[in-house]
Amino acid sequence: MIRIGIPTALLYYQYYPMWKTFFEELGAEVVVSPPTTQDMLVAGSSRVVADTCLPVKIFLGHVLSLVGKCDYIFIPAVRSVKSRVYNCSKFLGLPDMTRAVIPESSPILDIDIDVNKGKRNLHQAIYQLGRHFTWNPFKVRQASLAAWQAHLNYHELMSSNNLTPPQAIERISGTTESEANSSYISSTQATIAVIGHPYLLYDEHINHRFISRLKQAHNNVLTPEMLSAEELQSATARLVGRAYWTYEEEVVGAGDHYIQNGADGVIGIMTFGCGPDSLMMDMVRRQAGRLKTTPFMSLTLEEHTSEAGIITRLEAFLDMIHRRKRRQVTACV
Ligand code: SF4
Repeated sequence: MIRIGIPTALLYYQYYPMWKTFFEELGAEVVVSPPTTQDMLVAGSSRVVADTCLPVKIFLGHVLSLVGKCDYIFIPAVRSVKSRVYNCSKFLGLPDMTRAVIPESSPILDIDIDVNKGKRNLHQAIYQLGRHFTWNPFKVRQASLAAWQAHLNYHELMSSNNLTPPQAIERISGTTESEANSSYISSTQATIAVIGHPYLLYDEHINHRFISRLKQAHNNVLTPEMLSAEELQSATARLVGRAYWTYEEEVVGAGDHYIQNGADGVIGIMTFGCGPDSLMMDMVRRQAGRLKTTPFMSLTLEEHTSEAGIITRLEAFLDMIHRRKRRQVTACV
């Protein structure tokens, strides 16, 4: 059986159930890289220039951890998933960059996803990918339909049950972590929305267990995946009109939505050296400043971000939120 390696980084959190379904429907076995470690970060960083963004360095570390453990490593070049909305340049060149800097990598299976080139082009790209497993176009079509349905189910599961991607993936694979988290809700101190790209929010090594810390402090945590596509799109349209970046909604749309609905505070997580996020997070910060309804804090992560620094800023922000809530309660009495 052909083994396909999938790095647990970058777009993994958006698309893993879809990719897994596609390959398994075609008879392959899927293996994923283990959670990020400092050694993986150091190994990935050693292959690229220093000012490469942190998530890409981590991605390369995950690819290195898969070398020798699979027949192929799947690395798509996701250029555009919406008409005239394009992805960050790092995603566009990801398969080529990986080949160049990790020549010892297992062969890379790639696919160009660009909906601007039309449906026919997309179908051909999917068929080219499927040909590594079968020459039967009908089988590839069946696998792609099953994969798309898995993708829709995954996002529906997250938005209708308030689950994060790791919780939804655990639930799909039959573990019970997401139910365990519900115990935090009983003594909720505050509702905190955390916005940003999934590869920053759910990689506990990069963010020093940020979401777990919020939950352990008895806060209810909201994330972009808990909103429906319609909610994200309408909030993005309200704040910036037309989106220019793929995945802008998980920053701008979620930020604007939570600033205006349902959160006591909003925290934006971005990484040093990210051009798109520096613009998007600033729009959310300005919106919070204009409306003055919900406190907003942004955190910028990099290789040298210390755990103590994260904890200090988090505790200061939560103190301020809790004081604010107590004042509001007192004013109502
Ligand atoms: S959006 Fe920013 S953090 Fe993400 S890959 Fe591009 S530069 Fe890196």
